[in-house]
Amino acid sequence: MIPVEVFRSEASAAHLHQQVRWREGLQCPRCQSESVIKYGSYREYQRYRCKNCGRTFNDKTGTIFACVEIGLDKLLFAFYSLLRFNTSIRQLDAELDVSYRSLHRRVEHSSDALDAPRIDLAGPVEIDEFYVSAGKKGGERDGWSRSRGLSKRGRGSYDGDKPPVFALVDRGSDQRYVIPSKSADESTVRLLLDDHEEESLTVYTDGFRAYDPLEKDETYQREAVIHGEGEYVDGDAHLNTCKSHRRGISKNKLTAYLRLFELRRKILRKPGRDALKEIIQTVL
Ligand SMILES: [Zn+2]
Repeated sequence: MIPVEVFRSEASAAHLHQQVRWREGLQCPRCQSESVIKYGSYREYQRYRCKNCGRTFNDKTGTIFACVEIGLDKLLFAFYSLLRFNTSIRQLDAELDVSYRSLHRRVEHSSDALDAPRIDLAGPVEIDEFYVSAGKKGGERDGWSRSRGLSKRGRGSYDGDKPPVFALVDRGSDQRYVIPSKSADESTVRLLLDDHEEESLTVYTDGFRAYDPLEKDETYQREAVIHGEGEYVDGDAHLNTCKSHRRGISKNKLTAYLRLFELRRKILRKPGRDALKEIIQTVL
């Protein structure tokens, strides 16, 4: 169910946001002290004063929602429909009566807020690759496609309109990663799988030839399996975006889109209100 009650007013949106933000208790965003008292309000938002550093802050301070001209009710609805229904930002523009520019800027910022850890694999690991359509004009990137046929493998390029993207599921740590890459080849596969705890890492792959060299490498135990569609979609598991600046595998213009894409998969099976909480928690 769509959590319409949250979108009804800025006050109700502010209430949900407050619940999610302080789910582990109140904390000063500046000095991290938990010695915090209520201190009036700022519009729909509770204000606080830190007894340690003396500064005041409110529910939105230090989040991507701070200093935003769009009401939180509209903003949350925008995120919800973008992620849940693949709505375009232009559609929302008409629906919410907020400008395309400001909404787009917010979404971009929120993607930046989704930072990521480096890959450290416990194993066994599933790895799979797909291709994203990302070359649309105007910054709108709707939809993605998955090319399973061998004939289409390797066609996508980082600079082209269908860059390859790797999805990693670490069954050992229950971590998931979605990583855009320059090409779907052996060296990329090796870079992605390089950091593992055990001497030999078990890797489940499909029949794609870029994984073949793993067979001859004793630091890997390759198991070829064919994944069904939606294999990586699991509401209980933890998703993480992987960004490896150090090696230059990922980042760039695609990253923002991919983070939202990944979040979309994560909330796929969650009920409306839980999905929205997950969204807030992720973009905060
Ligand atoms: Zn403080």
